[in-house]
Amino acid sequence: TEEAYKRVAALDGEVGAFLALNEEKATAQAKEMDAVPFEERGPLFGLPIGVKDNIVTEGLETTCASKILEGFNPIYDATVVNKLREAGMVTIGKLNMDEFAMGSSNENSGIKPVRNPWGLDRVPGGSSGGSAAAVAAGEVPFSLGSDTGGSIRQPASFCGVVGMKPTYGRVSRYGLVAFASSLDQIGPITRNVRDNALLLEAISGVDANDSTSANVEVPSFVEALTGDVKGLRIAVPKEYLGEGVGEAARQSVLDALKVLEAQGATWEEVSLPHSKYALAAYYILSSSEASSNLSRFDGIRFGFRAENVTNLEELYKETRAQGFGDEVKRRIMLGTYSLSAGTYDAYYKKAQQARTLIKEDFDKVFEEFDVILGPTTPTPAFKIGENVEDPMTMYANDILTIPINLAGVPAISIPCGFEDGLPLGLQIIGKYFDEATIYRVADAFE
Ligand code: GLN
Repeated sequence: TEEAYKRVAALDGEVGAFLALNEEKATAQAKEMDAVPFEERGPLFGLPIGVKDNIVTEGLETTCASKILEGFNPIYDATVVNKLREAGMVTIGKLNMDEFAMGSSNENSGIKPVRNPWGLDRVPGGSSGGSAAAVAAGEVPFSLGSDTGGSIRQPASFCGVVGMKPTYGRVSRYGLVAFASSLDQIGPITRNVRDNALLLEAISGVDANDSTSANVEVPSFVEALTGDVKGLRIAVPKEYLGEGVGEAARQSVLDALKVLEAQGATWEEVSLPHSKYALAAYYILSSSEASSNLSRFDGIRFGFRAENVTNLEELYKETRAQGFGDEVKRRIMLGTYSLSAGTYDAYYKKAQQARTLIKEDFDKVFEEFDVILGPTTPTPAFKIGENVEDPMTMYANDILTIPINLAGVPAISIPCGFEDGLPLGLQIIGKYFDEATIYRVADAFE
């Protein structure tokens, strides 16, 4: 714990990964834990972790990197935070992100930007940019992020670390500030696959406080790390290596396939024909859900409240006008429009239908294959400021990660080569609740 705070003090001025630190409480907790006998300590005991700022922590400011939540000190811990404590982990502080998890570069943080430790002029990815950068910079060995359309995997890829989006329902969302409830999942970001497996095991499981958490057994993910991929059948969607995907990213996937082939796995090209609708469907559905979820931020219940207003309606309007950033407002408007009576059938309903087709694409491939492989992102980390004026290019960044959330299946990003000295990621996608096989394949590269 002490070392983590030293690293944060030395590096975070440049990286900008942390929004709030918990030094006094964390140090006291760590000191107290020194008394626990060795035989009672689990594998994660005493290890420091950072938590994305959209996961509530009792008495520790939780802002979702938004002005509208400034000064909000939750009165309870998210289920995952309780589980970290049960595993003996020490929460060091809260990690920077795109405001309300909307973004792919952390440039939408309402507080401050995050810089990529591999090149300080580069974005760390988003929205869990702080979570990935803090691990990449060695400030903490573990962090939690959230992934609605790629927000764990894309920053993990940009920062050269390991990030897992678990199956929808694997990890409780109780205490995760909702962006798009049917897509959001919390997951671990770590330096290696073994740490990742350990942390996912610690935070998984059904929760009475989240009716969408699934009552399925949590296996030992660490036991899956056998290094054995013999006989495994791998699918490579042609849509994931086609147009728009950089040559280096494409080549790094082909190289990874050679490594797996040499160990006895086989691969074939397949098609996920409805992938082309994923981006449009995602932005309609996620924005629709966000417009509804974010209606709770009204200046009455949490955080910031506008001053100098004369009536209740003005209070709502002014609080939201001053409290939300531009991207959040854009999504609320887009979502409200899609859900309106006149447009619901043409947009929201159509997007739901596209979502079903995308899910069925995955079901079909998984009838014959164990995992699906591809790049996590088409290119490595781009320059800060490069895409801010162009939301469409920014949205296209998630083209390879979004279909996974729409289907609800799990996927990991692991480091897989470089382009111009910047890390690239390999995405391994698995069947529902089969994170174990994903870890097994990821482990073949360690
Ligand atoms: N970048 C995507 C978006 O802006 C995904 C965000 C996420 O996964 N939270 O919506």
